Amino acid sequence: MSHDFRLLIDGELRAGVSGFDVVNPATGRPFAQCPKADAAMLEQAVEAASRAFPGWAATPIEQRAAKVEALADALVARVDEFAALLTAEQGKPLDQAKKEVLGGAYVMRAFAAMRLESRVLREKDGNRIVEQRTPLGIVAAITPWNFPLMLLANKIGPALVAGNTMICKPAPTTPLTTLLLGELCRDIFPAGVINMLCDENELGPAITEHPGIAKIAFTGSTATGKKVLASSSGSLKRVTLELGGNDASIVLDDVDPVQVARKVFEGAMRNAGQICVAIKRAYVPDALYDDFCDELARLAKEAVVDDGANQGAQIGPVQNRQQFEKVAALIEESRSLGTIVAGGAPLDRDGYFIPPTIVRDIPDDAPLVREEQFGPVLPVLRYSDIDSLLERVNGTEYGLGGTVWSNNLDRAIAVAERVTSGTIWVNQLMAIDPTIPFRGLKQSGMGTEMGQEGLEEYTQAQVINAVALDAA
Ligand code: NAD
Repeated sequence: MSHDFRLLIDGELRAGVSGFDVVNPATGRPFAQCPKADAAMLEQAVEAASRAFPGWAATPIEQRAAKVEALADALVARVDEFAALLTAEQGKPLDQAKKEVLGGAYVMRAFAAMRLESRVLREKDGNRIVEQRTPLGIVAAITPWNFPLMLLANKIGPALVAGNTMICKPAPTTPLTTLLLGELCRDIFPAGVINMLCDENELGPAITEHPGIAKIAFTGSTATGKKVLASSSGSLKRVTLELGGNDASIVLDDVDPVQVARKVFEGAMRNAGQICVAIKRAYVPDALYDDFCDELARLAKEAVVDDGANQGAQIGPVQNRQQFEKVAALIEESRSLGTIVAGGAPLDRDGYFIPPTIVRDIPDDAPLVREEQFGPVLPVLRYSDIDSLLERVNGTEYGLGGTVWSNNLDRAIAVAERVTSGTIWVNQLMAIDPTIPFRGLKQSGMGTEMGQEGLEEYTQAQVINAVALDAA
């Protein structure tokens, strides 16, 4: 690819200190160079964001929101270019890449429509107490490789509307859409308000330790999230962690197994299973189990696995070699523990392709059931009794999402209420909405993204408690 990707520091598009290859996961071969930042460039970005902060924080929220909307407009105007780049670096089919780009714009617009009103806590006997929300300072957004643009938009929207300045650092295997967004940002925001830096996984600790940065908005694995929390503690930074999940899908016994298997397949295999809230284990009652597994296997065999840039591709490659090897090893390990009824081995072609794989009759303690697979492989488990099922579902350190399927809404909701995760969807998939709070329980995260509460996480609450001088 001939595009000259640049970092964004202090309103300038800058070359890196060196460059590194970005690999197209559909070929396994480099297709572009990414500029790399070093510790000195991080300092320059912190200084720029720090200089820009007072002016941006003092800009009325309506004007900040208008700039965020302008970014959303600019993104939509170039949707095809962004989608093609996203498919090339991330692997997802082009139609899904387009949805991610438009989804990013949608989220930014949703935050641009929100406001931070002061609250009068008391207005009585000459005593006026008001709580106001002020920005924190510099927010560092650290993002993973599964939805590089969407997850960045989830942070840019609230951080900038709330009046913070930013440093954004994408994952090393999907940095390019972030840099392209940086080009749009340069033309919209004052210098230093938003900065984009790329690394090969070494800048993270320098960012999370940096005393000049007020908040870390992190999305990634639980293991890295723990490191982020530990290293942020030195300066008592605010931290939002959106981490891993092992979402269970609970099928109740009153459904048509073929109808629900289709939904569960989609929920497990979209983005080649690389979604924090993908269905990662399915629990099906004895009476429906065989029909359900048969339909999943049929769908898996029918699915078109191909380069996301090719027309008709439904499932693209796994995003990077490391994850490809991890998922392939989990499948291999499951071979002797359960029965693989579809898929089961990487495709014999270049790139990181694993066909949708369905594993039935696998025990609860198998690594594929206990760990977050983050790939196109689904274990299907039997159950006969709801109480013991819920113990199995909840017996995990994760608590992100989950689904319940039933023709009886009240019954489904009663089951959903007993699942210990931040969101449980009933009869629908991944209905994440920028106006509805989203959070992980247990080791799936800390803090809230999305909704008014998500916006407020990018602020601090300050109380002003006043009386007249002669009353004091
Ligand atoms: P990861 O934790 O390996 O990397 C995420 C980011 O952290 C990358 O930008 C990486 O460069 C950076 N990083 C690495 N080491 C760091 C350190 N010591 N300090 C600071 N930053 C560091 O995650 P990944 O493999 O890129 O993404 C997959 C994971 O993300 C999965 O577990 C998935 O469930 C999770 N995820 C969660 C959500 C959510 O909203 N809960 C959404 C998407 C993905």
